[in-house]
Amino acid sequence: MPQIPLSRRSFIGTTGALAATLTTTATATTPHPRPQLKGLPLPRGARLPATPPRRQREDSVGIAIVGLGGYALNQIMPRIDQAERTHISALVSGNPAKLAQVGDAYGVPADARYSYADFDKIAADDRTQAVYIILPTAFHADFTLRAFAAGKHVLCEKPMALSSAECEAMIAAGRRANRKLMIAYRCHFEPYNVEAMRLMRERAVGTIRLIRTEQSYPAGPTTPAQNWRFNRALAGGGPLEDYGLYGLQSALYLSGEMPESISATTFQPQGDPRFTEIFAHVAAQLRFPSGAVAQLATSYDSAGANFAQVRGTQGTLIMDPATSYAGQKMRIEGPNARDFTPGDPNVQFAGQLNHFTNAIRDSTPILTGGEMGLRDIRLIEAIYAAARDGRTVKLAPDGRMRG
Ligand code: NAD
Repeated sequence: MPQIPLSRRSFIGTTGALAATLTTTATATTPHPRPQLKGLPLPRGARLPATPPRRQREDSVGIAIVGLGGYALNQIMPRIDQAERTHISALVSGNPAKLAQVGDAYGVPADARYSYADFDKIAADDRTQAVYIILPTAFHADFTLRAFAAGKHVLCEKPMALSSAECEAMIAAGRRANRKLMIAYRCHFEPYNVEAMRLMRERAVGTIRLIRTEQSYPAGPTTPAQNWRFNRALAGGGPLEDYGLYGLQSALYLSGEMPESISATTFQPQGDPRFTEIFAHVAAQLRFPSGAVAQLATSYDSAGANFAQVRGTQGTLIMDPATSYAGQKMRIEGPNARDFTPGDPNVQFAGQLNHFTNAIRDSTPILTGGEMGLRDIRLIEAIYAAARDGRTVKLAPDGRMRG
């Protein structure tokens, strides 16, 4: 089976410009060229507001939306007016026609619409205090460093970056600039997942023995050239960084522990144009210091699944679907059997934005900061290393591989 190289690109920020250095690994023979952002038309199904949303508070934080793709236009921007302290102050896109259309619909002034190339000019725009980076993963580090160099706070989509080296550079740049960095882990603001964390802290299923998570869907016909999620230079190794990251996150916040070791396996089918660069399936087993074990599976080539189960000495927590935009279901089976309906999952989007802008205005701590994103990328690197080498990888408490 062909192996996907693990080390990709490490970024070292200078004064806003980015120096990219390619690292080679035992399996990487040809360095991949640095990917370039493309300007794409309005995504299919995108809904634009009939009237621009209004800012709710005087001290609302102006945010530049960087990347007008499917997630930005279909999920985040339509809910901006639910976030009390956030308004869209600027837009950044590679497609001028889309930029004009979306800018008009959201009431963003023409001089606050930037191309990817002239994004750095946002440094002089005092209407914008923060940026929300909603781009393919390969561009997260670059735009984070450029945003910090421009003096803005950063909310960055998951996964944080392609490598732990990139994550470290992002964190260091934020510290140097004295600006906030948050990773958009929306489930930390979603009522079912928040309630599940509370239940597990209160030992609602007793002592946790086994966690199982699966995040899978059958991808339609595509190729790395057509869809960035199937392109290694843009997305990393495949479903683990994308959908499977939710299962990895769940295992950590439901157990409340960091794994001390990981074993894993990957599968890259031959002859399937979707999987010439990325893995189709990744499965990993995490062993926690308490003795609990988490089994994670994720796939771009199996029937849809999005669940998390926690089996303890006195019952089982079942979340299915576990981490969706809407429609979560959650129950405990066993002696204390119960169904839970803790709230509307829809609030997670505004909740995440409120958390970020409160941190900016009130200096409150960020729950899902760069260190959490880095931790997760370290674990993903450990999963791939364990699979590649066919060994159990031992971990330090911060997720670094030992030995
Ligand atoms: P998308 O495919 O809509 O693309 C966003 C923008 O990236 C495009 O407008 C285009 O400018 C650029 N782009 C897209 N494909 C490219 C390519 N092949 N080469 C160069 N540039 C390209 O992306 P999306 O689905 O909106 O995802 C953007 C980010 O949001 C990712 O980090 C993703 O993981 C994240 N996301 C998060 C969630 C969530 O639930 N938190 C859900 C979906 C996406």
